[in-house]
Amino acid sequence: HLSNRLQTVADFVQPGARLADIGSDHAYLPVHLAKQGTIRAAIAGEVVKGPYHNALTEIENEQLTAVITARLADGLAAIQPEDKIDTVTIAGMGGTLITKILEDGKAHLTHKERLILQPNVGEDNVRRWLQDNRYQIVAERILAEDGHIYEIIVADPVDKPVAYTAVELKFGPFLLKEKSPVLQQKWRREQTRLDQVIATMQQAKNAPKQKIAAFQQERDQIQEVIL
Ligand code: SAM
Repeated sequence: HLSNRLQTVADFVQPGARLADIGSDHAYLPVHLAKQGTIRAAIAGEVVKGPYHNALTEIENEQLTAVITARLADGLAAIQPEDKIDTVTIAGMGGTLITKILEDGKAHLTHKERLILQPNVGEDNVRRWLQDNRYQIVAERILAEDGHIYEIIVADPVDKPVAYTAVELKFGPFLLKEKSPVLQQKWRREQTRLDQVIATMQQAKNAPKQKIAAFQQERDQIQEVIL
């Protein structure tokens, strides 16, 4: 049984996929998809030995060694050409780390893979990387679980680069259109955080006025766009 977060990632893996799950930890995602018969094959990539052994153990316990291979490797270096990977999932990390993994490991991609990304924070970095690397966002989801709010971004390769606006990069092109209660909750939280930052700076007397104004602008943008 997967968390709602990982289940939402799993929902975008197409039947018959050859999956690379990067930063797989216990390999719960590929194990679940293999048990369901959704995927043909998978790599569970891990850069840290502890999680790599978690993945090995889980795959062996579930008797899925014929379908899933755990590999100790940094990011997309876990992918080898003969794996014929067509889907890459990277979930449960910051957007900056996801972007770094994609950028550093570009050479291991053929630009044919579907990318299913679940950044915990810093989603705008991920969207900008996708735009700059000829990926089109085809779906987005937002959900709340255990007090956290998670975003899932699904992107497919395209020949012509897509241009997103700054607002779309920040809030998500699909999430913006949908404006769900969870999206509003997420940005209301961010607004509250900004209000606290602004209040603290205003009390600090010598805080630079320009900085305060920039935070106020960010706060107002959230008000205009989302709330
Ligand atoms: N993907 C799982 C999930 O969403 O539940 C596990 C997320 S866990 C919080 C993040 C995992 O990413 C850790 O096990 C960590 O070792 C791994 N990781 C971090 N940087 C990595 C990299 N460059 N290459 C492969 N794995 C990495």
